[in-house]
Amino acid sequence: MSPAAQTLERKWDLDVEKIRADFPILQKRVHGKPLVYLDNAASTQKPRQVIEALSRFYFESYSNIHRGIHELSQEATAAHDDAREKVRRFLGASDRHEIVFVRGATEAINLVVWSWGWQNVGAGDEVLITALEHHANIVPWQMLCARKGASLCVAPIDDRGVLLLDKMEKMINGRTRIIAATHVSNVLGTVNPVHEMIEMGHRHGVPVLIDGAQAVPHTAVDVAALGCDFYVFSGHKIYGPSGIGALYGRRELLDEMPPWQCGGDMIDRVTYDKTTFNVVPYKFEAGTPDIAGAIGLGAAIDYMGKIGIENIAAYEQDLLDYATARLGEIPGLRIVGTAPHKASVVSFVVDGTHPTDIATILDQEGVAIRTGHHCAMPLMERLGLPGTARASFSFYNTREEIDVLAGAVKKAIEMLR
Ligand code: PLP
Repeated sequence: MSPAAQTLERKWDLDVEKIRADFPILQKRVHGKPLVYLDNAASTQKPRQVIEALSRFYFESYSNIHRGIHELSQEATAAHDDAREKVRRFLGASDRHEIVFVRGATEAINLVVWSWGWQNVGAGDEVLITALEHHANIVPWQMLCARKGASLCVAPIDDRGVLLLDKMEKMINGRTRIIAATHVSNVLGTVNPVHEMIEMGHRHGVPVLIDGAQAVPHTAVDVAALGCDFYVFSGHKIYGPSGIGALYGRRELLDEMPPWQCGGDMIDRVTYDKTTFNVVPYKFEAGTPDIAGAIGLGAAIDYMGKIGIENIAAYEQDLLDYATARLGEIPGLRIVGTAPHKASVVSFVVDGTHPTDIATILDQEGVAIRTGHHCAMPLMERLGLPGTARASFSFYNTREEIDVLAGAVKKAIEMLR
């Protein structure tokens, strides 16, 4: 029996073959080999249900939203509102006004930085992030700090990639204006103790933004239970279209924040002397939004909901454990990121080889992984590595595909030595 067939106690109820049939792209062959798509942390593939929701909207209901009296505009507005409601439920927010549609996690963080941050961070203040951040949660804060004369402070991790929460708490002081931290590391897979982090921030009177880009694909999120002030994610990492995502913000904070982009839809009344603004979330949604994108995101949320996030989490945890074991057997291969609590991301390096060379050979075998700094250069510096190879798993992947990955990595190592 192949190792892949030796199933552990199943803690999920999920029919992978049926799921795979929903993703037409997974039938593709690459360089003559069946595609093994293991680049899900960069972006996930799209199920037929999402693609069809997009085309149905364009075929049957497309129009601009909010400003039309005519039937199509009302249908499109209702569908867009419905998508916002789905995101609200998905995140566990209590009020749909707390959900702002944006292009993705990057834009959501920029919105908070240039609206909330511009208003609340001043000279001598501090913004506290962690050593596990994606550039999207570093560079906007860094630019804000540079413009305001504030400092960017970075909470350390240990060599396994575990955040040192005690040290982080000691870094909080009277000048700390916000904590901005990732929920799950896109490089190491570390799941941060966001609940404790949020409680810690609030104990010190500091609001907390959580970057959930790598968390929402794998785990249930309930912003009300977490009590965070802001939570951001991207639709394309949860089987939705690219170019759409959401910012959750606590209503009191959003209400007080100034608009960051201005134009149509975000206004209440405009004269040449003065403009008053629409209510949240519209105050932050200037111009025609990605209407179809929001509808596609709603369809993706429905799709994940049908499988069930608990099933997804349990199945992907099995893939992670299996991949960790299979890759861990390969001589000379070192897994980077060994936190006890991880999501389904495995970064690795191989003695004497460059990650890009490994990925190039894997590509010839039909195996898609990612290599490089993964938009986390400071983390790479902390780890003393120029980059890693990263395989990241979805509920449509299988243990057999992980066997193909492990075989292709072995072949690459033989070829490169
Ligand atoms: N934050 C994390 C942890 C990510 O992994 C990513 C993308 O990989 C982002 C933010 C940025 O997401 P996007 O490019 O969709 O805005």
